[in-house]
Amino acid sequence: MTLAAVRTLLQDARRVAVLTGAGMSAESGVPTFRDALTGLWSNFDPEQLATPQAFRANPALVWRWYSERRDGVLAAQPHAGHLALARATERFDSLTLITQNVDGLHARAGSTDVLELHGNILHSRCLDECGVHYDHPDHLPAGAPPRCPGCGAPLRPGVVWFGESLDPAVLSRAERLVAQAQVVLVVGTSGLVYPAAGLPSIARRAGAKVVVINPEPSALDRLAHLVLPQTAAQALPALLEPG
Ligand code: NAD
Ligand code: ZN
Repeated sequence: MTLAAVRTLLQDARRVAVLTGAGMSAESGVPTFRDALTGLWSNFDPEQLATPQAFRANPALVWRWYSERRDGVLAAQPHAGHLALARATERFDSLTLITQNVDGLHARAGSTDVLELHGNILHSRCLDECGVHYDHPDHLPAGAPPRCPGCGAPLRPGVVWFGESLDPAVLSRAERLVAQAQVVLVVGTSGLVYPAAGLPSIARRAGAKVVVINPEPSALDRLAHLVLPQTAAQALPALLEPG
């Protein structure tokens, strides 16, 4: 299948789903995990920072890492690929963004139907799950995590850590949407982190055309009807913009 054929498919498609990963945000300057572990953090693995055990062992350290990443996200801007996806919304009966990213850039670009499989780094909530949630980063200190005003436990970042389960309602909606889509675009994901990495094969089995956009080979290439070895900011406007 060629890029021109996928453009034609998209012209006729009613339902489209897009799965995005860290590579979607690379051109906005949001580092992937590996790239975020530089400077002060170069001696750490993600497993030492992005797990419930790591947070309980050293809440201030983990909070500080997230605090720096939050600042990076707030400084980043959506790129041409995010904007092309947001502008394409009205062309389809449904265009759902299913993202592994925690940076909120799809919503900031104007996409309205966004499933955040791994949460949002700008949100925080009570570590002891007493129900307290903060959806705005403004009040958050950079040093130690603030205490939950409800129960006194530390607040934690509103993301899904390694070893934690995804929200089952969000995951099952994602599975349903990829199964109903005629075209599924898979953008900037290595395809190694499950269950998100299982969505393209659900789509393929259900009859969707699967297009992978990634400048590097990925574990999902074997499932794709077309692999576009391009970046998100190059390929998405080329696929979705008129002309
Ligand atoms: P990953 O880091 O495993 O893979 C990133 C993929 O993006 C790679 O295959 C790479 O080749 C590709 N890529 C790099 N630049 C690209 C570009 N310009 N255009 C298109 N593709 C490009 O990321 P993942 O698959 O999302 O899984 C890692 C986990 O890390 C996820 O669970 C995610 O929640 C988390 N994470 C999120 C962010 C974020 O919110 N931006 C950042 C770091 C990590
Ligand atoms: Zn609490």
